[in-house]
Amino acid sequence: MPGGMVEARASEATNGGTEQVDVTVVGAGFAGLYLLHRLRKAGFNAIVLEEADDVGGTWYWNRYPGARCDIQTIDYSYTFDPELESAWRWSEKYATQPEILRYLGFVADRYDLRRDIRFDTKVTAATWDEGPQRWLLTTDNGAKVSCRHYIMATGCLSAPKPPEIDGVKDFKGEIYFTSRWPQKEVKLAGKRVVVIGTGSSAIQAIPLIAEQAAHLTVFQRTPNFALPAHNGPAPADRLALLEGDRAGYREQARWSLGGVPWPQQTVVSWQLSDTDRRERFEKAWAAGDLIYILTQLWADQAVDVDGNALLADLIREKIRSTVNDPETAAALTPHDHPFGAKRPCLDTNYYATYNRPNVTLVNLRQEPIKAITSSGITTDKRSFDVDVIVFATGFDAMTGAIMAVHEITGRGGRSLSDVWAHGPQTYLGLTVAGFPNLFMITGPGSPSVLSNMAVSIEQHADWVVDRLIAMREAGFTAIEATEAAQAGWARHMADCSMLTLHRLANTWYTGANVPGKARGVMPYTGGVGPYRSICNEVVSQGMLGFRLTGPNVPEQCNDGEIVRLQPDVRLVLNMLAEMKLPPLESFGSQGARDFVAQFNAARPAGRPVGEVVDGMLPGTDGPLPYRLYRPATPGPHPIVVYFRGGGWVFGDAQSDDPFCRDMCRRTGMIFVSVGYRHAPEHRFPTATEDGYAAARWIAEHGAELGGDSGPILVAGWSAGGNIAAVTCQLARDRGGPPIAGQLLLSPVTDCTFDRPSYNDNATGYFLTRSLMYWFWDLYCSPADRTDPRVSPLRGKLTGLPPAYVVTCEFDPLRDEGIAYADALAAAGVPVEQLQGRGHFHSSFTMVDVVITGVSGRAQMAEAMRRFAGLPEETGRRHEGVPPDRPREVDAAAS
Ligand code: NAP
Repeated sequence: MPGGMVEARASEATNGGTEQVDVTVVGAGFAGLYLLHRLRKAGFNAIVLEEADDVGGTWYWNRYPGARCDIQTIDYSYTFDPELESAWRWSEKYATQPEILRYLGFVADRYDLRRDIRFDTKVTAATWDEGPQRWLLTTDNGAKVSCRHYIMATGCLSAPKPPEIDGVKDFKGEIYFTSRWPQKEVKLAGKRVVVIGTGSSAIQAIPLIAEQAAHLTVFQRTPNFALPAHNGPAPADRLALLEGDRAGYREQARWSLGGVPWPQQTVVSWQLSDTDRRERFEKAWAAGDLIYILTQLWADQAVDVDGNALLADLIREKIRSTVNDPETAAALTPHDHPFGAKRPCLDTNYYATYNRPNVTLVNLRQEPIKAITSSGITTDKRSFDVDVIVFATGFDAMTGAIMAVHEITGRGGRSLSDVWAHGPQTYLGLTVAGFPNLFMITGPGSPSVLSNMAVSIEQHADWVVDRLIAMREAGFTAIEATEAAQAGWARHMADCSMLTLHRLANTWYTGANVPGKARGVMPYTGGVGPYRSICNEVVSQGMLGFRLTGPNVPEQCNDGEIVRLQPDVRLVLNMLAEMKLPPLESFGSQGARDFVAQFNAARPAGRPVGEVVDGMLPGTDGPLPYRLYRPATPGPHPIVVYFRGGGWVFGDAQSDDPFCRDMCRRTGMIFVSVGYRHAPEHRFPTATEDGYAAARWIAEHGAELGGDSGPILVAGWSAGGNIAAVTCQLARDRGGPPIAGQLLLSPVTDCTFDRPSYNDNATGYFLTRSLMYWFWDLYCSPADRTDPRVSPLRGKLTGLPPAYVVTCEFDPLRDEGIAYADALAAAGVPVEQLQGRGHFHSSFTMVDVVITGVSGRAQMAEAMRRFAGLPEETGRRHEGVPPDRPREVDAAAS
């Protein structure tokens, strides 16, 4: 066995009272048990340190009445060994805590794990020792351990949060925490019981406590969404799916978004009638499955506030129809967060419990707790004498289990608590720069709590153990994330968190439940499958972002950022790459048009606007088609003349339809999308002259089209951006029409192909360099290309209308767009730029596909409204970026 594990393997026992091992794992829950099994099989000398006296982790401690898993148990199981799967059969759809604990005990025994688990052993400190490149651990029973690698398998919800209420110590009755429920029976019969909190733990416990207690008073600060679990045997359809193709089912789970194999929905809420939506909802309500209701209703439910509100309203209806007392029902109904942004709960008779005569709800928003006294609880309004207080107040989630447990001191004596003082910084949620050979299982920055933990745990443990094996084979003894990789991961995390609605709620996901804790979405919101592919890519790119060192081998450090694309752009491009399409230009012009039309037909339909009218307008050589989008608001409205993208070769009424609808809704303006003629049938300068003629006609007939008396605006994407820019120059030079502003989205502005973006983004981002060459060849002969009517960057730029110029980082056209914006500014034209970090050429026009394009469109719309002299749209402020960051686009869901 080469390299650094040799000395530890040889150690066997102790060295001056310090046990020497290759790997120490903390925690004997789901993660710790599987790690120990894999480490052993890989030939590592590994131990697990566990504070409790038995295995189980979270499931050891959380033994309150009603504790069950709320991912279906057939999914919430180990999958690494088919024989284990057939050796164990769950008795219920959602197993109880005792059954899950029995399962973990069964696993520990089956693989003979207990002999390497040190129970009743709490680590008190972990310190990286630079010299030997090992971790030194001290424990509360005096034992010391030295290990090469240190793995925190401490769970995400294991450090209980203090109650933060004055007077707890004064209370003379019994106090229990759901998170530390005693092993002995707790007798509640005949007692006056209070439960503080209405999260998942409380919502499971309350119905059972109510059955026992003489009276139960629930103190609720924030209501939560809860759905009936409909527990019973595992549903026959899911079981059949699993048993029909166990390996296939498990593999699908590994690549799914949430770790349970459900298909991705493509139908968006506004494509469904009220009846359809209700039908889907009732089916989900009856299914009693969190992942189902969180993902299977409509595609926009988790990414769009409007799509989400439709679902939240239906759940609110259910609460009102279950709870008899309207005031109690109102208090139990959540309004402060989108459904799913805070962890929803699965319940059995939760809401109906409030119809019992022995149950009272106290709304702490109306009467906050003042103090706990010797005999009970006092609020602003009254006092409650009670015998028992149950704190279901939750956890210092994700970071607490790692930081609060013991001091971890890394390289240079830096403590993890200091490094994370402003929030957790990790690479992949697995490692931390400055803490060599330290790994976290389901740590902050990984999908963890937003996934089926069983699936995430196996992926993490496999990835870590596989890395340790590879290191051993190569002779490396230390692995550490680089600062650059970690910073890149933080950026990617932030980008991902803009995809979902989690950032819009105060929850333990964001640290908001612990006073003084740094805020930010801690779990990775990009999904289990994408996360897995990223971890794999880190390896296939030569351990990108890691520094590997060893005593007898040269250092290896392949530094860099693993994901630079916006997360949804990455998915779109991966999907396109998997399709292995021939180059678009190889189809010929008509073939390319047909292909694009077919491709576009598979997109989500655009959102409804007030009215869509198709018409014809007179062009220079005959009529040109147009499509007009009118807002639902009363007119007259400003008019935007819009030019479609498509390289002067394609682009029809359908192609830019979702974008025009979206911008019509956001700006509150009429969009008239113009069907200018295409190359190669109509070459330069037809497209430009058609565009200009159309703008002129629309300006002259604005009133008939429902426009206001102000000047028109122009907008265009790609080649359409080119036509919009040129139209502004022609309007200035040919006596009008007056134009109030121009929106140029990834415009073609120049015939030079030597700017860096043409090379940097030549292939791989859908719009390729060779496709651009083809477009140019079809539209314009080399002799004409310097004409400002096709290369507006070469035209006169003074006296043009204010411009909003959008460019995308991964686009061949990026640099000529920026050059145009800079040149306009130099010529005295008011210009704003938006540079789409991580975006590609089609990001902003792929409405409801590239969700991270939303905030960019929100900013474009704001600019257009400013140009037209309209007031700011305050209702949509949350979509945009803070005003102090104008030049780079952030993502946000609408
Ligand atoms: P939680 O979701 O954080 O809920 C804590 C509750 O206590 C919240 O209602 C909170 O109100 C309230 N609270 C906290 N401090 C308070 C105070 N000082 N005064 C009044 N109220 C206070 O914790 P949890 O219920 O233990 O659940 C945590 C997570 O564990 C769940 O979200 C879930 O992921 C997991 N879990 C899973 C299962 C399962 O699989 N079946 C079961 C239980 C838990 P605010 O909302 O206003 O902060």
